[in-house]
Amino acid sequence: MNKKLFSLLICSAVISLSSCTFDIGSMLPDGSGVIKGGSYFEVHYIDVGQADCELIICDGEAMLIDGGNVADSDLVVSYLDDMDVSEIEYMLCTHAHEDHVGGLPGPLSTLRVNNVYAPKAEADTKCYMDFKDKARASGGIVNPENGDMVELGSADVVFYVPDVGDDDLNNTSIMCRITYGGTSFLFTGDAEAEAEQSIMSSGAELEADVLKVAHHGSSSSTSDQFLDAVDPEYAVISCGKDNSYGHPHDETLNRLHDKDVMIYRTDMNGHIVAESDGNEIVFASEKSPQTQTDPYTENDSSVYGECIGNKNTKKYHAPDCGGLPDEKNRVYFSSPAEAEAAGYEPCSQCGG
Ligand SMILES: [Zn+2]
Ligand SMILES: [Zn+2]
Repeated sequence: MNKKLFSLLICSAVISLSSCTFDIGSMLPDGSGVIKGGSYFEVHYIDVGQADCELIICDGEAMLIDGGNVADSDLVVSYLDDMDVSEIEYMLCTHAHEDHVGGLPGPLSTLRVNNVYAPKAEADTKCYMDFKDKARASGGIVNPENGDMVELGSADVVFYVPDVGDDDLNNTSIMCRITYGGTSFLFTGDAEAEAEQSIMSSGAELEADVLKVAHHGSSSSTSDQFLDAVDPEYAVISCGKDNSYGHPHDETLNRLHDKDVMIYRTDMNGHIVAESDGNEIVFASEKSPQTQTDPYTENDSSVYGECIGNKNTKKYHAPDCGGLPDEKNRVYFSSPAEAEAAGYEPCSQCGG
């Protein structure tokens, strides 16, 4: 998608959010962010379907975390081009699975990449070997140690490396926490609960305003204990629409809902951009499923129809909320009033 179209979509999504409290126009039209004293910071959670890819830009320096599947390579290259990224300071392959490493050879072939990081554990796959070959031209792959730090513009990046063996490549995922001013972002690859435990035991600082939910929202990640340590305000789940794994799993969505975390999903929101001025974080997305939920706050159920309850959490949602439960856990109500009469509370994300 070209930049103009993406910008227009952000505009239209935001214009229709009547309760929108932030000035998204400031991050348009060039995606270069709010500039305060010349400094800016933004995270792009690029929609690569059932895969992961995040671009972080701070003060003109870029970091790419994962690159989606092999088939996403061109999309990632053109997204970088749309964002006027011509050089990548840091590339992180969180782990060797195709849905993370597959799209990285494209940027490695077309852009200057100064540092390439990946776990020691490799995969005997064509796409991993391709990544390794292409990384050679960028000085080869560096394996960060737990706690290693680098600077991206005026942001600090710290790598967390789990120590639970490589039987499951997901558990080799290198996490990274990026702080910009008083705001923080955590990226988790596909780390499972064992890797989360390992990082917590190492004494790592995990608190973050925005959590990139591990393993596409699988229930085997994002344990309650880990979520308590991160204590996020926002969560971003990168997953494909109607994927065969059933990601994100209900258990994960429920854990996030229980802690009142606002959820963004690439399968529903498309590309998602979080921008920080060092104090506040604002989100914009290509598509906005929350757009049509505003009428619910006016309680005009006769016009806007049903809402959907979650039997487990006892919260009710607008039909287009990002955090709808699985079909089997749904209860349908004809109005928010009916849901509340049944003891359900409105979802903190969509307002019910
Ligand atoms: Zn994986
Ligand atoms: Zn994955």
